Parts: sequence; structure tokens; C-alpha cells
Amino acid sequence: MEAHETPALYGVLGYPASHSLSPAMHQAAFDHLGIRAGYHIFEVRPDELNAFLTDASARGISGFNVTIPYKEQIISLLDYVSPDARLVGAVNTVKVRSGRLEGFSTDGQGFIADLAARGVDPVKKKICVIGAGGASRSVCFSLAQSAPRELAVFNRDIRKAAHLVDHLREHFPSIAFRQADSVDALDIPGADILINATSVGMKSDDPQLVEERFFHEGLFVYDLVYAPARTKFLETAEGKGCRTANGLGMLLFQGMFSFEIWTGHKPPKEIMEAALNRAIAKA
Ligand code: NAP
Repeated sequence: MEAHETPALYGVLGYPASHSLSPAMHQAAFDHLGIRAGYHIFEVRPDELNAFLTDASARGISGFNVTIPYKEQIISLLDYVSPDARLVGAVNTVKVRSGRLEGFSTDGQGFIADLAARGVDPVKKKICVIGAGGASRSVCFSLAQSAPRELAVFNRDIRKAAHLVDHLREHFPSIAFRQADSVDALDIPGADILINATSVGMKSDDPQLVEERFFHEGLFVYDLVYAPARTKFLETAEGKGCRTANGLGMLLFQGMFSFEIWTGHKPPKEIMEAALNRAIAKA
């Protein structure tokens, strides 16, 4: 881009979205690579969503992330949705290309990349997932592609878990999926990996999701929640000798994949990670 050109415009679309750590991470990446671009918060009310999308290209927006509550709703409003995003039923990344809005899903990919960065291989593992919302769906579909031995899902609203498991079975007939009606029925003692894909743990008075007796040494425990960095769930797991990780790594990797979709540039991991850590320390 020539120096006199208008900087490219990126951002995160949500409502509310002011808490997002994405601006820090992406702005640092643009600045580091010398790309003239600004990453903003697009806090858009539900009744303004259609107008925002219609005007995005005319306003010079080149791409944006999508967060709560629009990840699912936005699908029907885009010109193109990638096969992965369609499978998961959620879009977290939109690229504006020649006036067309193209949707992608990088959450699940980000989760798998973080597991890999930690040396955790889901292949042939017995995996338990708690939650059946959008994040769980992304994680479960990506895990299913990694050929686990078994994937068991429990959710407070049992019908949602049943629906997710049915959907997974339909697309991955050779993988063993199980819907558990309680945390007990997940059979965590026999599992290799346990994942919290609910929002439980974000608030200090949230309930304890999994009793201490279920954790065991050798279990890898992942919490998609990253604020606070150490939830009760992770604290209990660590106390029982489990290896643990919070969702900050997933956030980083999903952002890196989004960045690459928008710019075609290799994302500067260390720069983005450092910016994320600085932002979360301030939050
Ligand atoms: P969502 O679609 O609203 O789903 C929320 C999930 O949490 C549902 O399974 C819901 O169960 C469960 N839940 C909420 N309160 C509960 C409670 N008191 N007891 C038991 N279960 C409860 O949200 P989402 O988009 O999937 O996000 C879930 C979490 O993942 C959030 O904390 C989000 O920040 C995090 N996340 C992290 C990343 C990352 O990059 N690290 C990316 C995406 C999301 P019901 O169905 O029974 O209501």
C-alpha cells in the first residue's frame, strides 16, 4: 500500500464488544508488519446489524471478527460461507472481497493449533467436553477431524448436547460419540482430555463444574475461558496433578488464522502473543 492511501479498516463485530482483546492483538500485528491498517471495535446493536453488513464494503472495511451474539446469526447474511463454518454453524471471521462478505470459522482450528503447541495429540484419545454452545461445536468438529477414540459431550441443557452429538455422528460416522446425561456419565476417570467449553468460571461465584474426585493425574484439562486465567476448574485440576491450559492460546491461534485470511501474511505469533498478554494484564 502506498503511504498516502487510506489505512485499511478491520475490527471486531459484537454486542457488547468493548471487552475484546482482539484489537490489541491485531493492531500489534499490523504495526509490526508495517501494514497500514486500524483494528476497531464495531459494537453494533441487533437492529443495526443488517445496515452494518450492507455498508461494510462502502465504509472501507476489509475484514472483521465476529463475536457474541452474532456468530451464528450472521451466516444467513453473508455472500459466501466456508465449508468448515457451515459445518460448525458459526462464523468468527469475515473477509470483504470485492464487495462480497465471506465467512470463515477459525475457533476450532485455533483450539487444535493450541493443543499441538502444547504437545497434546487428540488422535486415539478419549475426550470429554462440557458444553454444547457455539464454542463447543467448533471444538468438537475440529476434534472429530483429529480421529479421537471417543468424544463424550455433556451439557446442562441435555437436548443441545444430544443435537450436537447427532450432528457429529452424521458427519463423522466412523468416530465414537457419546452424549452423557451428567458429569458422572462422562466417565472422566477413563478419559485422557477434559475440556470446559461452557462460560462457567468467568464469574467468581460460578458453580464448580467438575468435582475434585473426577480429576486424575495424566488427564489434560483445557478451559476455553481465559479471564480469569486460572478458573476454579483449572485450579482443582492442577491440585490433582493434571496438566492444564486456559483459552488464551486458542484466542491467539484463532486470531492468527483470521489475520492470515485477511492479509495473506504470515501472522507474527510472538508479537500477537505479547500484545494479548499485555492487554489481559490490563483488563
Ligand atoms: P454460548 O454459545 O452462549 O454457550 C454457553 C455454554 O455454556 C452452553 O453450553 C451453556 O449451557 C453453558 N453454560 C452457561 N452457564 C452455565 C451454567 N451456569 N452451568 C452449566 N453450563 C452453563 O457461548 P460460547 O460461544 O459457546 O462460549 C462458551 C465459552 O467459551 C465462553 O466463556 C467464551 O468466552 C469461551 N470461548 C473462548 C474462545 C477462545 O478463543 N478461548 C473462543 C470462543 C469461546 P446451556 O446450553 O445449558 O445453557
